[in-house]
Amino acid sequence: MTQSKRLGSYTARQNLMTHPRYRYRGCAPDVDDPAVAAGDNSVPVTAWEAPDVDGGEAQADRVRRQEAAIEVCVECPVMVQCMAYGASLNAAGRLAVPHGILGGLTALERHKAFVRERQEKPAVVEPAPDVQLKTEQKLAVLRALAVHEAPEAVAAAAGVDVRTAQWQRSRLTTQLGLPKTATRVQVLEAAVARGLLEVGEVAGQLSLFPSVLVLEAAA
Ligand code: SF4
Repeated sequence: MTQSKRLGSYTARQNLMTHPRYRYRGCAPDVDDPAVAAGDNSVPVTAWEAPDVDGGEAQADRVRRQEAAIEVCVECPVMVQCMAYGASLNAAGRLAVPHGILGGLTALERHKAFVRERQEKPAVVEPAPDVQLKTEQKLAVLRALAVHEAPEAVAAAAGVDVRTAQWQRSRLTTQLGLPKTATRVQVLEAAVARGLLEVGEVAGQLSLFPSVLVLEAAA
């Protein structure tokens, strides 16, 4: 799970707790014996959290406890949502639930994955060659983007449906070597720089394009 895919803790918790099968989660207390897990009566409900014992828990006990809990998680109907909750981040961008087993993962496993992910370098995005960028549809979407902001208006001006227009805008963003979060203006600016649009085609947007203005002034 990459960091960009991690949910905020509130959303992740809501997704988990409002899941129609949450009540059937494996670690819920058994209705006949609340001391054991509903998913496996041989596993105590305390198996998902490290016990608070003097001197800490013996390693062999910890391994046994965790393995039993994880086996129940694997059969749990909300394992996917629980795993997402375990990976979710708080407002400070840290793991929201740093303790216990969630979604079949120990706290240590979740922490290691989080650290590994933070150390990963972002992939270098290479701009695509002209032949991929200068398709009729992409150029039509770019020209429409130069004039319109609303997705419906862009699609209509480009002569495609909204979904196609959005898809082509997303492809253009990537193929121009921009981050996925690039704004419309950044896409247009990159398109001008690549020669996909003329400066005159984005004339109405010039005040938004400092580098285009510089280029034009230098011409
Ligand atoms: S995945 Fe494991 S920790 Fe999460 S709800 Fe199910 S049994 Fe409980």
